[in-house]
Amino acid sequence: MSDKQIIHLDLDTFYVSVERKMDARLTNRPILVGGTSDRGVVAACSYETRGYGVHSGMSMKLAKQLCPEAVVIRGNAGIYSKHSDEVTEIIKQETPLFEKSSIDEFYADLSGTDRFYGCYKLATEIRKKIIKETGLPISFGLSANKVVSKIATGEAKPNNQLMISQGTEKLFIAPLSIKKIPQVGDKTYQTLRHLGIKRIGTIQEMPEEMMVNVLGKNGGIIWRRAQGIDNRPVVAFNERKSISTERTFDRDTIDIKKLKSILIAMTENLAFQLRRGDKLTGCINVKIKYSDFNTYTKQMRIPYCSADHILIPHILEIFEKLYNRRLLIRLIGIKFSHIVNGHYQINLFDDNETSMNLYKALDKIREKYGDRTVMRAAGMESKTIGRMLNPFNGLPPVVLAHRKQ
Ligand SMILES: [Mg+2]
Repeated sequence: MSDKQIIHLDLDTFYVSVERKMDARLTNRPILVGGTSDRGVVAACSYETRGYGVHSGMSMKLAKQLCPEAVVIRGNAGIYSKHSDEVTEIIKQETPLFEKSSIDEFYADLSGTDRFYGCYKLATEIRKKIIKETGLPISFGLSANKVVSKIATGEAKPNNQLMISQGTEKLFIAPLSIKKIPQVGDKTYQTLRHLGIKRIGTIQEMPEEMMVNVLGKNGGIIWRRAQGIDNRPVVAFNERKSISTERTFDRDTIDIKKLKSILIAMTENLAFQLRRGDKLTGCINVKIKYSDFNTYTKQMRIPYCSADHILIPHILEIFEKLYNRRLLIRLIGIKFSHIVNGHYQINLFDDNETSMNLYKALDKIREKYGDRTVMRAAGMESKTIGRMLNPFNGLPPVVLAHRKQ
């Protein structure tokens, strides 16, 4: 058994809480956050709406029909990202090693900060500090590993905390629904329910092979999680992979139209990689190397995002600012960092189902036929920059060869 102490922190109904912080009149009222047109999608909803069958991801139109008294708010990715950063900053100050796993979720390894009760005290203080300094409700679970802590956070919510003592992990999760295991999605849940499996305790009593037979490799993972076993380490936030691409030209160039076209194609390619890994970037970077071999980079913090149509204008804006020497260019590149887990949802406030479905359709084509089969007309002048590796599927980090053209 590991002697680690891992905390999982999760902001409660994050977007809703930020809206309530800005307008106290929204407290205790049913709230829907998302795209506000009839074609918009619910990105978050308050606890008050849940009894009406409302959930995130459903169309705003249906949500409004189900819960007509709800206050509908158009989300603002910039404001949420800013609040997320404030919370991140506090966790960074207070913990030796932390991982930001999504815009509103964090893990931190508190092992060695003190003996066990010291960890719980520290965790409690971190939570208090976040609530006091940001005004946002947050819950935590503390245990020997990530999965038990995450489940504990879910049980603690809303706005509370829960510690699972060493050795009691199995006992704690046994009576809970199999749905509470993070790896159990809708499809797996249905499969297991068909087998009459409802509680985690039932999986605990099954042989591992049985789960593997039914669900393949994932069955093994789920079986181990059901035993309260999880050896995944906390991965330091700043060490999380960034993704990048760059190109060195055979002949140095000053053809701005061509350079921009390449930047657009590069952005499309990296953004596609983010989306297929369910990731968002919070920081983008452009690099230029001039013919005299001097290299300049410029970066910009942006609201967490994975949508081309938002990223491309930012990238071009950085390029315009960066490119200020009237010299030939030898190399250009872009990099996305501050990568966290997250879906399209955060990009949806300005958009609607149609544009989300468009991204999904385009990405499907890319997945099937290659990532250069569909692209923006403006990026078409550039030759291939992509490849079909998914940087988020556990393969080694992407190191892109310089492409000549
Ligand atoms: Mg949350």
